[in-house]
Amino acid sequence: MSRKIKIFDTTLRDGEQCPGASMTATEKLEVAHQLARLKVDIIEAGFPISSPGDFESVRQIAREVKGPVICGLARAVPKDIDRAGEAIRPAERGRIHTFIATSDIHLEHKLRKSRDEVLEMAVAAVTQARQWTDDVEFSPEDAARSDIEYLCRVVEAVIKAGATTINIPDTVGYAVPEQFAAIFTALLNKVPGAEKAVFSCHCHNDLGLAVANSLAAIQAGAGQVECTINGIGERAGNTSLEEVVMALRTRRDFFGLETGIVTQEIVKASRLVGKATGFQVQPNKAVVGANAFAHAAGIHQDGMLKEQTTYEIMRPEDVGLDSTRLVLSNRSGRHAFKVRMSALGYELDGEDLDRAYQRFLEVADKKKVVFDEDLVALMAESEGLHDTEFTLEYMTVMSSLEGVPTATVRLRRGEEFLTEVGTGVGSVDAVYRTIDKIIPVEHELIDYIVSAVTGGTDALAEVTVRLGRGEQIFTGRTACLDVIEASAKAYLQALNKLLYYGDRRSHTERLAAQEV
Ligand SMILES: [Zn+2]
Repeated sequence: MSRKIKIFDTTLRDGEQCPGASMTATEKLEVAHQLARLKVDIIEAGFPISSPGDFESVRQIAREVKGPVICGLARAVPKDIDRAGEAIRPAERGRIHTFIATSDIHLEHKLRKSRDEVLEMAVAAVTQARQWTDDVEFSPEDAARSDIEYLCRVVEAVIKAGATTINIPDTVGYAVPEQFAAIFTALLNKVPGAEKAVFSCHCHNDLGLAVANSLAAIQAGAGQVECTINGIGERAGNTSLEEVVMALRTRRDFFGLETGIVTQEIVKASRLVGKATGFQVQPNKAVVGANAFAHAAGIHQDGMLKEQTTYEIMRPEDVGLDSTRLVLSNRSGRHAFKVRMSALGYELDGEDLDRAYQRFLEVADKKKVVFDEDLVALMAESEGLHDTEFTLEYMTVMSSLEGVPTATVRLRRGEEFLTEVGTGVGSVDAVYRTIDKIIPVEHELIDYIVSAVTGGTDALAEVTVRLGRGEQIFTGRTACLDVIEASAKAYLQALNKLLYYGDRRSHTERLAAQEV
């Protein structure tokens, strides 16, 4: 039997702590349920003393989420420990995680306490926590920058006091793998009683090393890794759960270790956290990015179609994606194109295939990569999407310092002309509200981004609009010399897509999981 590494998820505590990532209690509960489906070993649900809302949220998760250990964070002070103990009390299995800094920098400048005083506080906190639960975790904050002899003394004392997990945080993301691993080796070898506790690593990604440092710690004997979904967290974030889990799984030949994670739930968890926090992952993010399983090079695509393992080290279905998203480019051959179209619901042969492939090449020459949406649009062109598309015929906007911005918009759809007048808080708002009057379709505006393509006031203004309806997101992007015109056209483009694709999703149902 290979050694099993415990996965301690802190998305709801350290992850949620980062500015702008806050979640509602309902969202936290939803995330906690997904973490249970993912089968993480421990959920750090919050920091109960920090606010009444956080306390309630931890208690609700402790009450309702079954499976993982539910953990609450507490500073090494009595009122924190009791609050955390109270919050986790309804859990099947509850843990208190208490911490105090041990680095000289923190002792001098933050705590203004001596090493002996801090050691005493640590022991007292663990002793008090043990009155609430048998499962107590202790973290010497800023351990990676602490004096190793002092760190050993603190760890020995808290294990004696009843700490069952010793977490070594690289609080400021300063460690490098070999050095971080050496801390674990030293602690495990030097601390009397070390074998009675599980050692844990908690890394931050300030230097992009969080996953590497965590893997190094695991190799040096850590039995628990603290991490977050999508690697969210303060500053550059925490160790990413999906990366560390998939590294251990994909390279089992090297590590020889196991986790209990149901990896097929990873993408769902990633999406849920992205939606709840509003932090979407970048397309090239390892494991869960939209392009993580996309293969653009023609030679790669050809190999992939013959045998998946030629270029793929993980199977997309292992993380919960139905199939690999192949991004087509002008280097893609006819066969790759045909296979992709078939997956999208278009069976093409003979002349139809030739015609469609030619149209595809024209688009691919202008656009570096061609996504599924583009392919569907390509097919739609010949199926008369243009007849149902709204186009901008005429637009005027009145805006002055004192008055209410007013827009007149005329849209054309086929032979039909539709005109409306509307007002808004600004020029763009007036235009959008007026377009909404003409096209009353349910949606929410997720993003509105203006950027100048080149410098100067005569630069092209590029406007990107993202509209959401349910889980689906539709993007419109237009560049014009006039920013209001670009705004109107980008908005219309996104609305046209929403109207068109919104009802056509059956074609892409088999690929639904790709719309991350
Ligand atoms: Zn942290």
